[in-house]
Amino acid sequence: MAPTESPFTEITEREYALTSADIKVVGWQQALVASQERQDAMAGLIASTLSPGIACQAGCWYCCYLKVDVRSEEVLQIVEYVRGSFSPAQQQRLQDDVAENAKALQAMSGEQQLTANLKCPLLEDGKCSVYAVRPARCRTLHATDVAGCRKAWEEPTNLNIPHTLAPALLYTGEAHLKGARRAFTDAGHDGRVYELNAALAVALAKRPDISSA
Ligand code: SF4
Repeated sequence: MAPTESPFTEITEREYALTSADIKVVGWQQALVASQERQDAMAGLIASTLSPGIACQAGCWYCCYLKVDVRSEEVLQIVEYVRGSFSPAQQQRLQDDVAENAKALQAMSGEQQLTANLKCPLLEDGKCSVYAVRPARCRTLHATDVAGCRKAWEEPTNLNIPHTLAPALLYTGEAHLKGARRAFTDAGHDGRVYELNAALAVALAKRPDISSA
């Protein structure tokens, strides 16, 4: 490895190559799923080596009050999932919630948005209602001690609370994400990053036909 290379460059380049090839062969939707499966598999493997282990579990939702950034392909994937598995009443509630959150966030500065502690509109009964297609950003956060997550949720504007995120999972997840996102951008997808609520508000209102996207 060249001295200037990051130890995570290999992950980024491998993911870039795999996702780029998949987009050409099986299309962007399956390429996205395959990339997400690789990210989860890598995270699971790394998590199995950690001590203390990962404290995250179903029903723990503190990180679902953080701002989430997404890419267009992730938003379209979530909308397709919602259209296929949510009842009309759930879809309407989601649409109302994202619109409300997006409006609230629009009135805030970038700094205020980071500490807003707004409940993710996809969080239902303490669980992610779109877990299978949750954004890559949500797949990179894993904590080794829930106490830090809880305290940060209780005191959102206190930026001095030490987090207990597992660095190995955070940095490898970021490296994976970087490669996948570059592959989508190079394949002609919108390379911009959006705030989850604002992006979902637009996408749900438009009811996009993602099969033709
Ligand atoms: S998309 Fe799911 S995992 Fe991500 S913040 Fe929302 S509820 Fe939590």
